Amino acid sequence: MTSTSTEAPIRVRIAPSPTGDPHVGTAYIGLLNYIYARQRSGKFILRIEDTDRTRFVSTSEQMIFDSLRWLGLNWDEGPDVGGPFGPYRQSERTEIYRKHAEILLTNGTAYRCFCTPEELESVRKQQIAAKLPPRYPGTCRHLSPEQLERYLAANKPYTIRLAVPPQGNDLTSSTTFRDELRGEITFEHNNVDDQVLLKSDGFPTYHLANVVDDHLMQITDVIRAEEWISSTPKHVLLYKAFGWQVPRFWHMPLLRNLDKSKISKRKNPVSLIYYRDSGYLPEAIINFLGLMGGGMPADINSGTEQFTLAEMVEHFVFANIRLGGPVFDLTKLKWLNGEYLRKLSPEDFFQAIRTRVFGDDYLRQISALMQTRIETLTQFGDLTGFFFSDHVVPTADTFLPKKHTLEETLTFAQDQLAVLEATDWTHEALERALKNLGEEKSWSVKENFMLLRAIISGSTASPPLLESMVIFGKARSLDRIRRFLDLQKKLASQKK
Ligand code: GLU
Repeated sequence: MTSTSTEAPIRVRIAPSPTGDPHVGTAYIGLLNYIYARQRSGKFILRIEDTDRTRFVSTSEQMIFDSLRWLGLNWDEGPDVGGPFGPYRQSERTEIYRKHAEILLTNGTAYRCFCTPEELESVRKQQIAAKLPPRYPGTCRHLSPEQLERYLAANKPYTIRLAVPPQGNDLTSSTTFRDELRGEITFEHNNVDDQVLLKSDGFPTYHLANVVDDHLMQITDVIRAEEWISSTPKHVLLYKAFGWQVPRFWHMPLLRNLDKSKISKRKNPVSLIYYRDSGYLPEAIINFLGLMGGGMPADINSGTEQFTLAEMVEHFVFANIRLGGPVFDLTKLKWLNGEYLRKLSPEDFFQAIRTRVFGDDYLRQISALMQTRIETLTQFGDLTGFFFSDHVVPTADTFLPKKHTLEETLTFAQDQLAVLEATDWTHEALERALKNLGEEKSWSVKENFMLLRAIISGSTASPPLLESMVIFGKARSLDRIRRFLDLQKKLASQKK
């Protein structure tokens, strides 16, 4: 296999899936791709990988565009700006993937699998019971031409799977690829499953769509998070099956919580929308992400750890990235954000408060809730303070319903969080989700809403709760509930 010629014009991409709020990890990988492209006069591409329809969230794509633009990570080609290799949204390219799966069927590197979901599930259960890693046992790999004919004639649904060697003339038993940060990585084929490439509904899986697109979009360098390393042997086998050149692979260290576990919303806000709506400055976030994992020389700007995106493009060295998981330390991000706030001129600072805390749209929506509820204009502040604060701490006599213990209440608040995480952020959807939960757990509507009102507003009296939560936004509302639960857990453990 030849590697990508060094003369090829550099083309890199990020390929987020629109499955919810845009993630800080997407911004981190986006930043690295952006820097890599700008350092090499290359192109930075945004591709939307939306083929997993079960996890698709319709508002997510626009949030990805908005938050990456807000950070200043502008792309040269993408669904909204176009470009010569479009469409850049995978759901608009299904015909391309189908045709490519056909190519692999024809050249014998893929095969049709007629196993039903029930059959696969039963094999999986047996393997798990026998403490074996769940793998497709290859049942359909060697169907006779007659069997195949019979299944096709009966219109039996099928998926298309990759035939991982040994197969036909290809008797190799492992795949090796080069990771630009780690050197050579080898995977024994014993550990590589016959991956589904095309599902029975005609939609591709991530693996097929990703490889076909990276090839057709002439991506020279795949710069992505290290969680994809285990997919890379499948991808390399696919490049080989098509007879294509492999791109260079760079797997970046995963961002970590303070306890070194993979960054998660349980321990850190991960939504870019949260950071935007909570008053972080994009320059601070970009600077903070640029500090993750090294890459920037330590002596830049007298070792202050403060630098701009343009300075990163000028000085960042990919070879200096450290593989130990960089810690996403919120305290440090807050400190950095404070530094950036102090760099603003008094007028710019005032404008930031005016637009980001007291923006016209936000105030207009809140004021629409207040007109029927106050007698003097200044009472506006009394009832709406929670919309403009970062920290709200309800006391136990505010949030604890008479009929429930502290433990029951915190369990219920945890349940509220879980259903709200999975809910569309509209009045109707919120109402339905909360009422269903209340019925299921035998909490009255009044107790249910009072608890949430206390958590969100810090008080027993607030403007209408659900309307307020819609205006306050999903990311910040969920964060408020998580912080409430964290604090209560901390208080409970101190009592023990
Ligand atoms: N769609 C994948 C994601 O959500 C892309 C991974 C890759 O860059 O290959 O991150």
